[in-house]
Amino acid sequence: MQSNNSLSRFLARSTRAFAAFALSAGVALGSTGAAHAQRVPIVRDAEIEALVRDYARPILKAAGLANSNINIVLVNDPAFNAFVAGRRIFINTGTLMTSETPNEVIGVLAHEAGHIAGGHQERLRDQLARAQTMAIVAALLGAGAMVAGAASDTNGLGAAGAGIMTGGSEMARRSLLGYQRSEEATADRSAITYLNATGQSAQGMLKTFQRFQSALSLSGARVDPYQVSHPMPRERIANLETLAHQSPNFGKTDSEALQLRHDMMRVKIAVYTQGQAAASRLLRNNASGLAARYGDAQATYLFGDLRSALSKTDALIKSQPKNAYFHELRGDILMKSNKAAAAAESYATAVRLDPAKSGILPIQLGQAYLAVGTPDALKKAVIEVRKGLDRDRENAAGYRYLAQAYGMLGDVADADLATADGHYYSGAYQDAKIFAMRAQMKMPRGSPGWVRAQDIINYKAPSKKKK
Ligand SMILES: [Zn+2]
Repeated sequence: MQSNNSLSRFLARSTRAFAAFALSAGVALGSTGAAHAQRVPIVRDAEIEALVRDYARPILKAAGLANSNINIVLVNDPAFNAFVAGRRIFINTGTLMTSETPNEVIGVLAHEAGHIAGGHQERLRDQLARAQTMAIVAALLGAGAMVAGAASDTNGLGAAGAGIMTGGSEMARRSLLGYQRSEEATADRSAITYLNATGQSAQGMLKTFQRFQSALSLSGARVDPYQVSHPMPRERIANLETLAHQSPNFGKTDSEALQLRHDMMRVKIAVYTQGQAAASRLLRNNASGLAARYGDAQATYLFGDLRSALSKTDALIKSQPKNAYFHELRGDILMKSNKAAAAAESYATAVRLDPAKSGILPIQLGQAYLAVGTPDALKKAVIEVRKGLDRDRENAAGYRYLAQAYGMLGDVADADLATADGHYYSGAYQDAKIFAMRAQMKMPRGSPGWVRAQDIINYKAPSKKKK
């Protein structure tokens, strides 16, 4: 069902406004062709990240993980999956699209939080603690590859990359990501505790797990990765059902406002990954609601007439003037219409209204200033992109825009340093060092930029060797 065309547009949007990579080793990242950079289908989206973080926040607090600085990472994959590794919760777009209510996603997050709080999967977390940023994701998505890399003599990310080409077998993934039966029971009980503590129902979690149980009985049905790593024996579902029904919150439903945000997220994912028809199908019961109009405006932006997309978006803004993401969409439409200065105004509004203070939006604003291209606008681009990177230090695309802005301003030293940082956060350490050395030669010894470059030069890539 997935249209390659719309997916590539989604990824094109992602690489432009966000950092997105598709899983395949050896694909060049940036102008220097980072041989080690792996392409991982990560989606960066301010709206979806903020929503999932809002789902997770009370749960993590109840689990005693509020100060653990947990990141949410969105994986562009239609399969149902969610997993936790170190301080990161990975959640597939497929999970978000499949779940009809916030409560279903929250239930999955509660269960995963139960695994973190229970200290399950220490082995995987140990491995991941040594890996860096994007490399972590590549390693996880090709979890079998990580095992292969760990056993080989090769150091660094190249090993994982090579492993991804040959490994990534389901068995290896299962052994690395899978849980023991006792851990599942513990995570279920913990999840119920967190849901109770936050006054939420366990109905969503139960629904998700029941769905997997019934899917198992269908021969030839596609098995979702979540199901593989979380085996659902009948007794487990029965126990969960009892616990869920015991809660006074069982009949509680999500607030209307949260459900609306959820619907808007689902329709966004549908439009970007599967096109307008999928989005319409998703909302056929509420075809005139705000979420449906949002989907329509986005589909028009992606596949239709930009002027019509703009007027549809303006109507959305009229309905919710303070919705940062409507202004962001307006900016996207204006950028595509080659009206960078007007786009910058919309993005600036989005930055101002964004309650989650996402780093993505200032980077988009900076990108619009970059497109304006006047010396004044380029200086603003540097300021905004830096602001975005302060909030979102690992946003590799941000460093590319920063390097570009510095380059156009004639500041070669800072351009080289930004390029070095971009490679560093992509896991391409050799390229990072080359640019860091270039930058250092043009910088006063001991200056902040010089010191940062030295940090990159001194960085030792995590070894895949066993101790
Ligand atoms: Zn589990």
